[in-house]
Amino acid sequence: MTFEDLQLLPALVEAVREQGYETPTPIQAEAIPAVLAGRDVLAGAQTGTGKTAAFTLPMLQLLAMRGEPPKRGVFRPVRALVLAPTRELAAQVEESVKAYGKHLKLKSAVVFGGVGLKPQIDKLAKGVDILVATPGRLLDLADQGHVNLGTVEILVLDEADRMLDMGFIHDVRKVLALLPANKQSLLFSATFSDEIKELAAGLLRDPLHIQV
Ligand code: AMP
Repeated sequence: MTFEDLQLLPALVEAVREQGYETPTPIQAEAIPAVLAGRDVLAGAQTGTGKTAAFTLPMLQLLAMRGEPPKRGVFRPVRALVLAPTRELAAQVEESVKAYGKHLKLKSAVVFGGVGLKPQIDKLAKGVDILVATPGRLLDLADQGHVNLGTVEILVLDEADRMLDMGFIHDVRKVLALLPANKQSLLFSATFSDEIKELAAGLLRDPLHIQV
């Protein structure tokens, strides 16, 4: 199994090669074709399994294939949203988005709490295709009108169990309420409490279950 076998765009295969990856990990082999086919995914995966690339690569591909980003000067709506529990993870995910998307013309940004709002507001004002965020800060920005989440096509909840453990369930639910009903959703979690199962049941439509 190679990354080419997964029907990834040459621009993504090239970026993956530049990362030094030779073969897809099991979660990548299962998740990438499903996400490319438009399916919702419920994945049980620990960190270290390659889960970030498992959702980032097909997310980038779907956005890239759905047409050119708008021309310079035209505002770009948020098309993909990744929620992560901590600023460290959010920053790491956005680094991966940038690394895997380096040969594509998509723009990304990361927003998290504990730092000034102004630079994040300025970044959002320029328009981004892919937004990586922690739930509380995203909600603040959305409530203040700095970001519209009504255009999101793809949603990823990364480390959903940690998000709930950290007490973000209300923020997560409020963010979900701002998203369109018609979207593709991917939920990644290391563990599956009743609370996660309930969240997944409300969010995902006929999801592919993956356990690695
Ligand atoms: P993650 O589980 O997403 O936190 O990824 C764990 C680590 O595995 C990261 O350092 C990735 O750069 C690396 N990685 C992801 N996919 C692959 C792959 N297919 N081959 C080798 N390393 C990978």
